[in-house]
Amino acid sequence: MGGGVVGICVALCLQRSGRSVTVLERTLPGDGASGHNGGVLSIGDCAPIAMPGVLGSVPRMLRDPLSPFAISWPYLPRISPWLLRFIRAGRRAEVERIAAAIAALMDAALPSYRALITGTEAEPWFRPGGLLYGYATDESFAAAQYGIGLRERQGLSVKVLDDEAITTLDPLLAGRFRHGVYLPDAHHTPEPGEFTRALARVFLDGGGQLEIATVTGFETNGDVIEGVNTTSGRRLAGEVVLAAGAWSRDLARQLGARVPLDTERGYGVRVPGAGFGLRFPVISGDYHIALSPELRGIRIVGTVEFGGLTAPPKRERAQRLEAAARRIFPELSTKGAPWWMSYRPSMPDSLPVIGRAPRYSNAYLAFGHGHRGIAQAAITGRLISDLADGNESSFDLAPYRPERFSLRR
Ligand SMILES: Cc1cc2nc3c(=O)[nH]c(=O)nc-3n(C[C@H](O)[C@H](O)[C@H](O)COP(=O)(O)OP(=O)(O)OC[C@H]3O[C@@H](n4cnc5c(N)ncnc54)[C@H](O)[C@@H]3O)c2cc1C
Repeated sequence: MGGGVVGICVALCLQRSGRSVTVLERTLPGDGASGHNGGVLSIGDCAPIAMPGVLGSVPRMLRDPLSPFAISWPYLPRISPWLLRFIRAGRRAEVERIAAAIAALMDAALPSYRALITGTEAEPWFRPGGLLYGYATDESFAAAQYGIGLRERQGLSVKVLDDEAITTLDPLLAGRFRHGVYLPDAHHTPEPGEFTRALARVFLDGGGQLEIATVTGFETNGDVIEGVNTTSGRRLAGEVVLAAGAWSRDLARQLGARVPLDTERGYGVRVPGAGFGLRFPVISGDYHIALSPELRGIRIVGTVEFGGLTAPPKRERAQRLEAAARRIFPELSTKGAPWWMSYRPSMPDSLPVIGRAPRYSNAYLAFGHGHRGIAQAAITGRLISDLADGNESSFDLAPYRPERFSLRR
């Protein structure tokens, strides 16, 4: 259940393995985070969100008016256990372990997508071109050194560039950054919502079913799920996959998995007809925003806001993104540009939950992809389908298992 990019990719993979598949989605495919994001398939990247020194940077970020980080104070008691786990995940040994687990997913991301979309209407929405992290100051570049080494230790292709080399890649970037870190293997989708909807149509054209309904719970018999309860009645189910993004936690609990899933709310501004087009996405290492090429114009995305699933979005957060983007592109006019907020499904260790539900033999979990759900959706689909088929793959699923937080102290 869940018609975001993860749910649709899982559905497609299960369909290709010969199953009859129904996606239960409460709104429409792509309405959640999958239609509202940076569109970066950051293949060749493996840096977790919690990095060494993360705790020390929090006071400075809370003071900075352009900070990418925000806490809604009423939500602090609720998010505190998550934050403690996040801080623990930022210890050096943990970061190295987590980076290896991210790299393993990213390494398989591209072939998994190719297997799903080659020759389909989703293919044109998937584009090469790389990804640039840009640094305007020596200070921000110095802070990036550990991350560069982390990627190199995982054998990823990383190119360190100066302004001249950045300009050769995209003349529009001339004079904007002193240093750059270019990840040539990264891809992007200029319209993440269109990409998700195209994937959904591929699924429907292959005989899949999409039903608009909200899942409320499960009918069980011993260790077997026999049905799914929805707002429009009960559906029989031979197998169930929970892929409801940031809304998965309570349903996962019903399936026996107590997972520290929360949401990092993110914001975006679409600047259609911005007057220029980037050749590939750019992430500012100074302001921690991403600028992604759209078909016409650019999209500015960023912000990590801890505020839960029900508080209203804050316009000023989007305005901060605009202000930060204008520091890099002073000619950018964002007047009247549409903005949005969406919910990253985030685990404190930057790793998704991919695995069998602890209590039931025919239920699977696929959520928690945080900042990288677009990139990791197809490989997640492949792994869930392999599990359901009983295929012993060479892929080690231990780092993503649902029980990992209850097993480790
Ligand atoms: C600002 C921002 C920028 C980002 N940039 C990138 C990026 O550049 N690259 C990248 O890889 N990732 C990026 N992400 C992350 C990415 O968007 C998410 O990880 C990904 O979209 C998660 O996909 P999903 O299918 O798990 O969740 P969603 O897309 O949120 O889908 C979950 C679906 O489940 C449905 N649902 C929920 N509850 C129920 C229920 N009870 N019954 C039925 N249906 C239900 C929802 O309606 C929703 O459609 C970004 C996110 C944000 C917020």
